Amino acid sequence: MNVLAVGAHPDDVEILCAGTLARYRRTGHAVGICVLTNGDLGAPDGEKVEIAAVRAREARRSADVLDARLFLLGEPDGFLFDSPETRIAFAEVLRAFRPDILFIPDPHDYHPDHRAASAIALNSLQLAASPLQRTESAAIESLPAVFYMDTLALVGATPRRWVDISETLDTKLDMLRAHRSQNDWLRCTDGTDYLDYVVKQARLRGLQCGTAAAEAFRVPEYFPINHAASTLPELPA
Ligand SMILES: [Zn+2]
Repeated sequence: MNVLAVGAHPDDVEILCAGTLARYRRTGHAVGICVLTNGDLGAPDGEKVEIAAVRAREARRSADVLDARLFLLGEPDGFLFDSPETRIAFAEVLRAFRPDILFIPDPHDYHPDHRAASAIALNSLQLAASPLQRTESAAIESLPAVFYMDTLALVGATPRRWVDISETLDTKLDMLRAHRSQNDWLRCTDGTDYLDYVVKQARLRGLQCGTAAAEAFRVPEYFPINHAASTLPELPA
């Protein structure tokens, strides 16, 4: 299968879904990561163009951990909108990668760019399947199974599906270490240690489903019925 995860910022996918992506990778599936903004607000000072370059390098290093295909769409950080242009750009990613499974941000997550990314991803599906909307690649023939990723710090999220990441948590942390500028920044802005935070969330989601660590998901409902439920790695019996 082809498994694609989309985030607004260069580290979003890693925080909420990298352990699950690593599980797919381990069993031979292809993994893609699509980042919609360039993350150029992700530093306390400096030139935006340089910050964007650092973040692109970090995203590449992280994607390389999984040998994942990386799509950087380069929208301005803080100004991500569900627009004709962003839908067409993401529709082309869907057509180029042709995912069987698609992980997208929760529509109620805390950051406006995350909410916009959720809308762009979901709203581009029909476009990507419409042959009359031309982009570089051919229209997709079927829609991927779609999952909402967890929210930051579990705020407002009621997951319905859990994936055991006990054996891939280390890989997830390796990917997050690649985003070194973010750990430095978050430690000085809100005293949060990025890796510590991610481990806590994974442990708590693991507690809910009886494993040492987990990532949690929801399944969006729409017509035609999203067949996502059968495609996640199984929990241990
Ligand atoms: Zn983000």
